[in-house]
Amino acid sequence: MNAPFKIEADQSKRMLIGGEWHNSVRGKTFTTLNPATEEVIAEVAEGDASDIEAAVQAARGALTRGAWPAMTGAQRGRILYRLAAILRERSEEVVALESLDGGKPLAATRRMDLPAAIDCLEYYAGWADKITGEVVPARRDAITYVQRVPVGVVGVIVPWNFALMNAVWKIAPALACGCTIVLKPAELTPLSALWLGAAALEAGLPPGVLNIVPGYGTQAGAALVSHPGIDKISFTGSPRTGQFIMRAAAENITKIGLELGGKSASVVFADANLDSAVRQTGSGAFFNAGQVCSAATRVVVDRKVHDEFVEKLAARANALRIGDPRETDVNLGPVISSTQMQRVLDYIAIGKGEGAQAVAGGARLGGRGYFVQPTVFAGVKGGMRVAQEEIFGPVVSVLAFDDEDEAVSLANGTAYSLAAAAWTKDIDRAHRMIERLRAGTVWVNTYGPTDARLPWGGMGGQSGIGRDLGRSALDNYTEQKAVWIQRGG
Ligand code: NAD
Repeated sequence: MNAPFKIEADQSKRMLIGGEWHNSVRGKTFTTLNPATEEVIAEVAEGDASDIEAAVQAARGALTRGAWPAMTGAQRGRILYRLAAILRERSEEVVALESLDGGKPLAATRRMDLPAAIDCLEYYAGWADKITGEVVPARRDAITYVQRVPVGVVGVIVPWNFALMNAVWKIAPALACGCTIVLKPAELTPLSALWLGAAALEAGLPPGVLNIVPGYGTQAGAALVSHPGIDKISFTGSPRTGQFIMRAAAENITKIGLELGGKSASVVFADANLDSAVRQTGSGAFFNAGQVCSAATRVVVDRKVHDEFVEKLAARANALRIGDPRETDVNLGPVISSTQMQRVLDYIAIGKGEGAQAVAGGARLGGRGYFVQPTVFAGVKGGMRVAQEEIFGPVVSVLAFDDEDEAVSLANGTAYSLAAAAWTKDIDRAHRMIERLRAGTVWVNTYGPTDARLPWGGMGGQSGIGRDLGRSALDNYTEQKAVWIQRGG
């Protein structure tokens, strides 16, 4: 192992159940790899249905007995603030771990994932004592009001592309609301979640409130979503797994929230600041080697500036520095696994077969580590598979349009609805695009920012159901309870 630090603490390889670190019930383990070198980083305990059973029981116990349900919102908030402070104090530790496991450049993890996780924890820490009900004077003969109560035991399943941040997006509001949690991190990136579990205990989270069971989706994940003791499943991942979860959740009529895929468009009009559009759309396409749900995978460009845009975007792609995520000045790391690399290379072959022209990239880079060249396809038509399907790699398709209606129809013409951007200096057109683009987030003259205060999620279809973040995420983790108190009863 050639990590810049050692993963020695025992807990980094075990599962967290009821506030204690355990081996899996069956003693199984799995390995997690460094995608830049293909070397093993660590052996991690592999959970299955029996470990999920223990974790759900621990979470149920912590929800109903002991310190957690006895706490006020202010006390829960203080724990979340302490957890945020630990992330800040020991940021280099968790940044190194996340970058090593997920292949995201250290600098990008430091700049983006970690501050976003800390901000999210602090944002919901602030909410914890402001989750209030409402007095609704329904009858003269009764006092009637509505309480907000924790939804219960939440099953959280997250992917590998923002392992820590995606977990925090769900854990922070769920804890603020007083829920307890069983978290199953992605099998490709279990380490930062286990680190977070240790930090949460250190922050004073009572035992059993946050349980973490690493393992495979088809084993631990499937057991979690079909467990009758789970009140809500909060999932981020692929549409295919989302469908599976919906079906499994139907069995027990478990509530679900699904943050799924994307095929987001960046629409560039001729009056836009072209250099800015190229720069930010390029970052939107290639950040984290394109493994971002809201990646700018389709650039829809006014034909008047199309050739200039393509030339500049290709130059930008060619100038990106690709390499080991631990090196400074690296823009792009590897994709997460050999399977993912093969999938991306297959899509590149599909694009070429469909008649798109690879004006930058188009191949694997080197023979060790899962590196793929940043690839720009020009001459893409709306119906091509590379314009329709989520590739989840550093591949961007450029499509030309002649008028605004065509731009909207190309931008909206997929099964996804997560995010979209419009680039124009014309304020009327910007407002029209905000209205016409079917997406949970619309950016104007920028690409990609998210914030804990703003809701994040798709408008439906393959992008999923519900929203993470923002004030409305508190609704994800609370139930309403209507109360009647009879006067003179
Ligand atoms: P994935 O669906 O393969 O895996 C996600 C998680 O689901 C993992 O923890 C996995 O172990 C688990 N899982 C897999 N099969 C399961 C099953 N049968 N039952 C229960 N759990 C199961 O997704 P991925 O490839 O890891 O992530 C990429 C996908 O995530 C992309 O589609 C991307 O767009 C999406 N994503 C969406 C958002 C968003 O906010 N909308 C954010 C990040 C990623």
